[in-house]
Amino acid sequence: MSAFRFAPSPNGCLHLGHAFSALLNADLARASGGRLLLRIEDIDATRCRPEYELATYEDLAWLGVEWETPVRRQSDHLDAYRAALAKLEALGLIYPAFESRTEIARLAASENWPRDPDGAPLYPGTGKAVSAEERHRRIKAGEPYALRLDMDAALARAGALNWRETGEGPGGERGVIAADAAAWGDVVLARRDVPTSYHLSVVVDDALQGVTQVVRGNDLFYATSVHRLLQVLLGLPQPMYRHHRLILDESGKKLSKSTQATGLRELRRKGVTPADIRRLVGLA
Ligand code: GLU
Repeated sequence: MSAFRFAPSPNGCLHLGHAFSALLNADLARASGGRLLLRIEDIDATRCRPEYELATYEDLAWLGVEWETPVRRQSDHLDAYRAALAKLEALGLIYPAFESRTEIARLAASENWPRDPDGAPLYPGTGKAVSAEERHRRIKAGEPYALRLDMDAALARAGALNWRETGEGPGGERGVIAADAAAWGDVVLARRDVPTSYHLSVVVDDALQGVTQVVRGNDLFYATSVHRLLQVLLGLPQPMYRHHRLILDESGKKLSKSTQATGLRELRRKGVTPADIRRLVGLA
């Protein structure tokens, strides 16, 4: 049986873009007689709040989306991510990086420094050069650090990868897509404040929840390269991918959780119905 999922972060209220993604997942699950799972991606304790999580359930129910319970909340499963990190560590594929974000930005300040597909400067790899003794000493002294994937070593181990795209990437990509995880450099797999990262927890959870169909916005299309790589390194199954168009505002920009006008709560307050929302996002 196919299993779909909708995976919002409770760091704000849902907007039309979330409504489109949730409704599309729900429609596809229903049409295929599959399951619809919900996952709360709340690893960022500084930005996620319980009231947003409650608002998410309420807004989804109002839209008419039905999901299975229990809901998987990422902050309840840090041990699962620790176990995945331990596996990668045993393979010699991760290393601690002690620089803060500001320090990395400084190291990578030059204008033509390479950037990842999201536009962030690539990590210069300085942490990889730190000796085992020094790593040990700094960790023991309580210095904060992130764990990063040694991309070269990971790629050497995994070889060439691809995925089947049944939707469409931002540049119209579809069919068999060659993964290009190298474009992301040595990605963070565990942040300084929490023993995981977006990439790691998505991959672990999709596998643990038995997700067979990943249907999500095409802002995450390029991240799929990292997800495929982690799936292979961790021996996890490969889901199908279907990336969908993003709902944009009048100026063509991606919707933001802080813009009231496209928030589901605000629209509902103005008398907009769930049927209107379907039409607004282009679902008949
Ligand atoms: N939590 C992510 C977001 O809200 C979605 C993650 C995913 O679908 O892989 O953008």
